[in-house]
Amino acid sequence: MRIAADKIHDGKKFLPPHSVICINETGCIEAVEYHEQVTAVDVYYEGIICPGFVNAHCHLELSHLKQVVPKHTGLVTFLSSISLQRAHSTLEERKLAMQVAHDFLIAKGTVAIGDISNNDDSLSLKQQSPIAIHTFIECLGFAAPFAEARFQYSTAIEATFKKSNLSCSITPHAPYSFSKELLSLINAHQQGATLSIHNQECAAENELYLFKEGHMLRLYETLQTNTDHFQASGQSSLATYAPWINPSHPLLLVHNTFTSKDDIEIIKARFEKAFWCVCPNANLYIENTLPPIALLQSMGVPICIGTDSLASNDQLDICSELNVLLENFTVQLEDVLQWATWNGANALSMQNHLGCIAEKYTPGLLLLKEEDRQITFVKRII
Ligand SMILES: [Zn+2]
Repeated sequence: MRIAADKIHDGKKFLPPHSVICINETGCIEAVEYHEQVTAVDVYYEGIICPGFVNAHCHLELSHLKQVVPKHTGLVTFLSSISLQRAHSTLEERKLAMQVAHDFLIAKGTVAIGDISNNDDSLSLKQQSPIAIHTFIECLGFAAPFAEARFQYSTAIEATFKKSNLSCSITPHAPYSFSKELLSLINAHQQGATLSIHNQECAAENELYLFKEGHMLRLYETLQTNTDHFQASGQSSLATYAPWINPSHPLLLVHNTFTSKDDIEIIKARFEKAFWCVCPNANLYIENTLPPIALLQSMGVPICIGTDSLASNDQLDICSELNVLLENFTVQLEDVLQWATWNGANALSMQNHLGCIAEKYTPGLLLLKEEDRQITFVKRII
C-alpha cells in the first residue's frame, strides 16, 4: 500500500513534500519514496503522519493513585503521600487501574513504553500487551546498611520478569533514595544496562547533596529513614553520583527540572549515551515547574518524553506532553516529534524497529492534526 499525507515526519525530520510511504499489511515499511510532484497513492491523509509514540517514562503500577495527591504540593509531600497510600488498594483494584491506563496509552498512539516497576503487579498485563515494553525494576533505599537486602529484593523481581521472557533491567530510583553502596551494587549488576534515574526533580535534592539540609530531611523523618551514613558532598546530586556509575551504562535521566549547565557538561564528558527525559505535565502537577528545555537544546543533548504516572498526571498522553512544550517554549513541532518517537526508541534501545519511518521498520503510523501550535491525535493508521 502506498500512502501520503500533507506532512510526513519520519521520526527525525519532516520529509520533503510529495513523499510516499510504501507499507505492507503487517505494518512493515517497504520503502520511502521521494517525488518531484504529486504521484498516485492508495490513501492520502489530511494532517501529519508520524511513527508511533514512545513513552520513555511511566509507572503503570501507580495507576490506582490517580488524583490521590493534590496538585502543586511539592515533591516531598507528594512522595510522603504516595508511599503511605500506595498499598491501600487491593491487587484487583490495582490491576484494573493498570489495565485501563495501559489501554488508554495505546488508544493515544503509544507503541512502546519504559515502565518503572517496584514489584511484579504488572507482569501478567505485560505478558499480554501488544506494545513494546522495557521494565525498569526500581531499586531504592537511602539507608546504606540495607543496600544488600534492597538489591536482593530487586533481583528476585528481575528473575520473575526474566522467567516470563520480558525485557527488564534493575535501575535506581533517585539520588535521594539510593546510597553510594546501593548504586554500586546496581552499577555492577548488568554491564551496559540502561540506568533510568529520577534526576533533580526538585530543588531539595540538590540541597541535600550540597548541604545535607532542606525539605528532603523532612521526608526521611516521615519515613523514619536513618541518614547517619550520608554526608553532604558540597556538589549537586548529579555531579556527586555521576562518578559512581560506570560510563558504559547508557543513562536515562528523568525530569531534570533543577539541572544546571555544569551538570549537563559533566554527563556529556563522562557518558557516551545519555538521554534527557522530560515529563512536563508531571512537573506542573507536583512542583508547578517546567524542565529547562532551552538549556537542554542549547547543549545539544537528546531529549525524550515521558508521562510519569497517573499519580502525577491527569492522563498518559504523549500529545498532551508535547502540547505543553509547544505552548511554553519556542520549540519546533519537528523537534518535539523527534523527541516523542526516534529519541524515545533510542533511549529504550528499541531503535532497530521502532521510532522511525524507514525500510524494514515497523513503527506504527499515527495521524495527527496541527492547529495553532497544538497537536491532536486523530488515529492510528496501522
Ligand atoms: Zn517517575
